[in-house]
Amino acid sequence: KASELVDADDDDAVELAKRHLVQPWPYAGSVGNEARALIGEGDGIYITDGSGKRLIDGPAGMWCINVGHRREELAKVMYDQAMALSYNTPWYTMNAPSAELARRIADAAPADLSHTFFTTGGSSAVETALRFMQFYNNVRGRPEKKLILSRGGAYHGSTYLSASLNGRPRDRDWMDGADDLVVKLSSPDPFRRPKEMSIAAFTDFLVDQFRDTIARVGAERIGAFVGEPVQASGGVVVPPDGYLKRIREICRENGILYISDEVVTGFGRLGHVFASGDVFGIDPDMITFAKGVTSGYFPLGGVIISERLLEDLRRSNHPDALFGHGLTYTSHPIGCAVALKNLDLLEEGVLAHTREIAPYFQAQLKTLEELPLVGEVRGVGLMACVECVADRESKDPLQLDKDVGKRIDAHCHELGLLVRPLINMCVMSPPLIITKEQVDDMVAILHEGISRTMDDLRKEGVWRG
Ligand code: PLP
Repeated sequence: KASELVDADDDDAVELAKRHLVQPWPYAGSVGNEARALIGEGDGIYITDGSGKRLIDGPAGMWCINVGHRREELAKVMYDQAMALSYNTPWYTMNAPSAELARRIADAAPADLSHTFFTTGGSSAVETALRFMQFYNNVRGRPEKKLILSRGGAYHGSTYLSASLNGRPRDRDWMDGADDLVVKLSSPDPFRRPKEMSIAAFTDFLVDQFRDTIARVGAERIGAFVGEPVQASGGVVVPPDGYLKRIREICRENGILYISDEVVTGFGRLGHVFASGDVFGIDPDMITFAKGVTSGYFPLGGVIISERLLEDLRRSNHPDALFGHGLTYTSHPIGCAVALKNLDLLEEGVLAHTREIAPYFQAQLKTLEELPLVGEVRGVGLMACVECVADRESKDPLQLDKDVGKRIDAHCHELGLLVRPLINMCVMSPPLIITKEQVDDMVAILHEGISRTMDDLRKEGVWRG
């Protein structure tokens, strides 16, 4: 039992966390003094909380437990690799699992993306891609070409430069960033487009804004565009058809590197190893990934780089220019070994299962739109968002109660489902091995959880829907 692995029992853990743990994304008023839902064990699509209650892991951890909890194959590979070689320095040595994983990734990646630099997670992957862009332009004699284009609704990480790209509400209210290096564009969120605008006109607006921004700022000053194919933490924003392809072409025309952030969409979430090529038909210059690469069993990420960019560097006039960038845990043998096994599991059936079940998952969740609190259910693959609104006409995002997502989560927790609440939204991205019956359970709980939330809001007199 998981609880037998540590000295502290569950009550102790809560006390100890309050006394000694700083949790991510805390508020000043409770920093270092906060207990969160204690999770003891995981099995398949389920986790068990501190009181022994079994819950469907709705967000699959943080969009990462793709092949499910308690996969013995993955645990065994980690044990075997640790017993064979637990670590080697990537500064002067290398290991076989990282070379083999880089080859498998190159096989699955679109176009000429042939080489991978491994990192410790998503933020360090995005950071690496951006530092590589800076280095590339320095070596090529274009030191002024460094600005980065990002969009509202984006989430790219929690290191200084990656976080500077973030565009979700609240993220930057109290945090600094390298604002002089970043140019922000609109979120490609069709749900929040102006009322009278068609989707086609909205797409044109986004593309025109992209072109106009380049014209205003100057292509010679812009190094890269960074974008998630589907903005994940921004609320599963699926961009309008054709938009990503048009942005990709404009980047090519202007010598701006296109960095596709597949930290969430990579490794199966949309039924493919990478979504950029297979789902959206684009060939980025770099792809960043993390999370699902090891199904969350080990912290690993990476950036896949185009052969053309590496060739440009090798042929430059500065063969002695040093890319001074590396992490102690770059190419970690345990991470790469578990990623190889995880990729086997994905390719041997989990990807096909995801493609098969995704339409059912989306259709069943869509039925929640019958509830008046629900403004829209949207998604693709096995990622979806239920967005609540106070009023469907104005799409008011519940100004009266910004934390409606948390209320739904609390009811769902009681009913057996962990939800990822995001202000007025609930994001669902279960382990990819979920069955139809389990989808039905998940949707039934969400239906009841949202209904109970509507009752609460009515009783409190804050909502009249
Ligand atoms: N990029 C995207 C699209 C993400 O969703 C995340 C994390 O949620 C990150 C980057 C940062 O990854 P990490 O938290 O592993 O550093």
